[in-house]
Amino acid sequence: MNIKKILVVEDEEKILEVVTSLLESKGYLVLKATDGKAALKIFEKENPSLILLDLMLPDLSGEEICRKVRAKSRVPIIMLTARAEEEYLINGLQIGADDYITKPFSLKELAVRVEAVLRRTGEELKPLYQKNSFQNGELFVDVENQIIRKHEQQINLTQSEWKLLLAFFKYPSKVFTREELIQVALGEEYDGYDRTIDSHIKNLRHKIEDIPKKPIYIITVHGKGYKFGG
Ligand code: CA
Repeated sequence: MNIKKILVVEDEEKILEVVTSLLESKGYLVLKATDGKAALKIFEKENPSLILLDLMLPDLSGEEICRKVRAKSRVPIIMLTARAEEEYLINGLQIGADDYITKPFSLKELAVRVEAVLRRTGEELKPLYQKNSFQNGELFVDVENQIIRKHEQQINLTQSEWKLLLAFFKYPSKVFTREELIQVALGEEYDGYDRTIDSHIKNLRHKIEDIPKKPIYIITVHGKGYKFGG
């Protein structure tokens, strides 16, 4: 059986201790970090299935860590927050957290949330950097360094094309509407028409697909939008 690793990032020793023993009693392997830098290091190395992330840490904030993790991975993140203000909660979700728990929380509540998030995200959302090579290496993507190679040849993408590709990677099972692609990939300041997305997609297909008219990576979902087929 595959034991799931959970990274717990918390600078309050007591909380870290009780959360760890709870999760261990549920059969998870717990990785611990008491500051942001350590958390990022462990995240890179260990590829956890879930991150429990305290919002207030001595070095980086939970928000910063969340952003850094999200630049590379769709691993589920539950924010642990002492600030109950709605503003922060909304922020937490906008920067890509999957759920949040307000301190003080009961251990039972925490266990339920952890199980729910793991169930919800399941297998479909594998961490991004695990899957950066497609079709036996035909397409290779180095997310961190923004390098993409097709049949060993480096491909140059425009910023918009790169952002689109990244959006597909981050949510591999999601069908994107055009509006969503505009928001996720191009940002809200983008003022082109919806159909401009189609021409970016077309250009992207010409660069990464063998047969752009029969795409295997950027797939059209009729009446809805696009999804990633890698
Ligand atoms: Ca804290």
